[in-house]
Amino acid sequence: MTRSLHTFFAVLLMIFFVPLSAHAVDSVLSIEAPDSAGVGQPFLVKISSGAKLSDVEIVFDGRSVAPPVRTESGVSSALAMFGTSLYAKLGPYSLEVEAFVDGERRRFRKLIQVVDHEYPQETLRVAPRLVKPPQKYHAKIERERALSKKALKTVSPVRRWNVPFSRPVKGKKLSRFGLRRTFNGDTKRRHWGLDFRAYLGTPIRSIAPGKVILVGKDFYFAGNCVFLDHGNGIISLSAHMSKVLVKEGQMVKSGQKIGLSGSTGRATGAHLHLGVYAQGVPVDPEPLFSKSEAALEK
Ligand SMILES: [Zn+2]
Repeated sequence: MTRSLHTFFAVLLMIFFVPLSAHAVDSVLSIEAPDSAGVGQPFLVKISSGAKLSDVEIVFDGRSVAPPVRTESGVSSALAMFGTSLYAKLGPYSLEVEAFVDGERRRFRKLIQVVDHEYPQETLRVAPRLVKPPQKYHAKIERERALSKKALKTVSPVRRWNVPFSRPVKGKKLSRFGLRRTFNGDTKRRHWGLDFRAYLGTPIRSIAPGKVILVGKDFYFAGNCVFLDHGNGIISLSAHMSKVLVKEGQMVKSGQKIGLSGSTGRATGAHLHLGVYAQGVPVDPEPLFSKSEAALEK
């Protein structure tokens, strides 16, 4: 874990912009972003300056975030999280940063190499209806997919999240994100979240402050589920609940109970499936639980 975290969040770029002014030292702009990111892995981009920073926009692989600027002890900074798809084509991707530094518009571009990342595999035998939904459920599944997709694309202007995220349950990690699963010998799927052990009725807690943007009632796949908007394009999905304890539109704190675990939807037993999405792209939640922001930027 430690080694992989260093890969995802290593500070591998520092651009120093020194304008021709008497207060050069105040106008240094630094951009911290990794040189490479594994498929399916999240990474952070932080820009900071002793000069006044405003209207920051960060674009990666065509997805844009305008993170708020925070000023502390005379340093302005903005933080954004991105991720690469499990199915991303390997190779260089462009990261573009635009910001006003002391009132002047500046643009920076950096290439991030998307590299392979190893994920485990497993083969499973389950009831065929769990792999190939019967025809009569197709319309229901489509409706639920449209609702989920809309929720996952939410990019709201306030950043509510901070790393590390707070753990949703105490239980140990079961199936990991990215797992290659083969069902009944032929159907192949990837696992788009991280499963935690959570016996029936275990309280499930919010991983970060957020707003409830969708409560799914008995969805075919996710069962009773809660989508939280943590801001700046970061969305979490908690699935298979036996009971949901929040309502759409409600604000929740980090660690607040949002539901009780269960096995609703496509689940073979009670557990928590947690999905984390960065601008609509499912990313591995695991690295986001273990380190402080400062540690993740080194
Ligand atoms: Zn799962």
